[in-house]
Amino acid sequence: MRDLDTRTLQDYDREYVWHPFTQMQEWQAEPPIVIARGEGSYLIDTEGNRYLDGVASIWTNVHGHCRKEINDAVKAQVDTLEHSTLLGLANDKSALLAKRLVDIAPPGLCKVFYSDNGSTAVEIAVKMAFQYQQHRGGKFTKKTKFISFKNAYHGDTIGAVSVGGIDIFHEVFRPLLFKTIQSPSPYCYRCEMEGAGSGDTCDRFCLLELERLMAEHAEETAGLVIEPLVQGAGGMIVQPAGFISKVRELCDRYDILMIADEVAVGFGRTGTMFACQQENVTPDIMALSKGITAGYLPLAATVTTAKVYDAFLGEYKELKTFFHGHTFTGNPIACAAALASLDLFEETHLLEELPTKIDHLALRLARLLQMKHVGDIRQMGMIGGIELVRDKVTKEPYAWEERIGVQVCLEARKHGLFLRPLGNVIVIFPPLSISIKELNFLMDGVEASIRAVTG
Ligand code: PMP
Repeated sequence: MRDLDTRTLQDYDREYVWHPFTQMQEWQAEPPIVIARGEGSYLIDTEGNRYLDGVASIWTNVHGHCRKEINDAVKAQVDTLEHSTLLGLANDKSALLAKRLVDIAPPGLCKVFYSDNGSTAVEIAVKMAFQYQQHRGGKFTKKTKFISFKNAYHGDTIGAVSVGGIDIFHEVFRPLLFKTIQSPSPYCYRCEMEGAGSGDTCDRFCLLELERLMAEHAEETAGLVIEPLVQGAGGMIVQPAGFISKVRELCDRYDILMIADEVAVGFGRTGTMFACQQENVTPDIMALSKGITAGYLPLAATVTTAKVYDAFLGEYKELKTFFHGHTFTGNPIACAAALASLDLFEETHLLEELPTKIDHLALRLARLLQMKHVGDIRQMGMIGGIELVRDKVTKEPYAWEERIGVQVCLEARKHGLFLRPLGNVIVIFPPLSISIKELNFLMDGVEASIRAVTG
């Protein structure tokens, strides 16, 4: 391949590429940064400029970019077997990875269904839960609905959007979606609207409302879908301690399958390998992607229990088969990257080293609270959310059209950072391998950018 100059690549991009979650009219107005290399916590553009990857390439990167150990595993796999289908055949890497995932998953999760992105991992979970209830037969066949949460985000395919709850993204598709039973979520602001107050009262309101909905709809509800500990795309909204264990308890009480979407929070992000492990919760189904390959390749896994799996066993003619499968299911190159990533977790003691980084991030985030337009800071492990507000006292938000988050992130580029906001929330989500020195560089730049833009 010919090396093209930056200008030509920028032109090709603007001429031919339609970017995700992007207003293309705006995109056309400025030449984009074209990334050509990665090195540790940094992305490097075609002009040699370095940007610390503050969002881990959309919440995927774990051990840094171009990590030698994963590079070597991928290269070796390319020379051995690039792809072979799981429809009718097994392959060595997907078998080995399934065993490794079960070993580290919450106890009881024991069967791995592969796909290739977070949306499909959730889509599969939803279809699996639905069909599971059909296989139970009798009155359980009426269990066809799902409980979802306000502000939830589970991906962009139609099933995943159906269980989502972010109006600005999801509302336009409403006529295409299946109806869910929507529960309020902690800090979703519905409580305030309904006069339940905020903080503790809000959490209590949310759980009471969830229980009320479950009691009312138990007979028709197949499953509940939750982002455990943190609602990501909703604005890095952290759930109160005890919330997911209470959800687990309620799901048990009302015979509803608990689907934990760990697509964003899995693989160390919250400080434990999986978020559910912080409250010793075993969901019935767990969706994984993003960090599974340390951000290298598209791969996802929907992991479930013997109870769910066994309901699909039967004679061929009974049609209990799970009729779902993507072409690249269990791709060996992606699985080799995932295996190398799990090896690195052990070799570098990454999880053991996280508490120091998490504490340091907490210190740096706390400092921002002094700033005039920082209305709230939220943290869970190596995830930070900085909410910018027009008025600190009344918490009046900046209007959506002001694009305050976008402006701060553009400013941050001058400080050698790549960031991507969620509305008025500045997201901190660096590779887990980030050093304390780099974390300081990141937070210095974030602080300076917020100051420059909000005054
Ligand atoms: N679930 C959660 C919690 C996510 O954050 C995301 C993506 N941000 C998805 C699902 C969808 O993943 P993908 O973009 O790989 O389809």
